Amino acid sequence: MRVIGLVKPCRVSAGVVYVDSMLGWLSRWLRMIGVKAVYSGSFSDEELATVDGLVVTRDRGLYSRRTGDTLLLLTDNHLHWLTAMVMVLNVKPTIGDNSLCPICGGRLIKVNSMEAVGKVPMNVVRRNPTLLKCESCGRYYWVGSHHRGIERTLNIVKELASNGGIEQSGPECLIYIKMKPK
Ligand SMILES: [Zn+2]
Repeated sequence: MRVIGLVKPCRVSAGVVYVDSMLGWLSRWLRMIGVKAVYSGSFSDEELATVDGLVVTRDRGLYSRRTGDTLLLLTDNHLHWLTAMVMVLNVKPTIGDNSLCPICGGRLIKVNSMEAVGKVPMNVVRRNPTLLKCESCGRYYWVGSHHRGIERTLNIVKELASNGGIEQSGPECLIYIKMKPK
């Protein structure tokens, strides 16, 4: 087991990330930056303990039972959660073509905004010739006023990650990672 106080990039199983309960915020942000995140609502503790892939949890018990790649986030700082993930997965915290539906993780496709008439505010249709639509749940997305807030958050994360990680602020380590030997 490797315990780290300062999060450094490392190689974990690629593919799907399993996000434990109480980390719903993190699963939404991971999807926005293109990481396939499965939120644990549909998993039992037993399944999460043995699933193959990276599991992210706030549960010390689950962390100690796991034998595969696991990240334990004890800190309450949401930006540190996302920074730790960005560093561990070695991904860019940006919104782009890879972005997934934050709500369900479905693929987003570009559609003519006229098809969304009656489903999104009319001024959105007028201002945007195209919208993004989730293939799975059918939600529509567009660049709006909330976008600046998202960019601000991602810029902070980018800066934390490029400055070499997250310094521990107290005596106790608040982020732990263990990796299966490759
Ligand atoms: Zn969706």
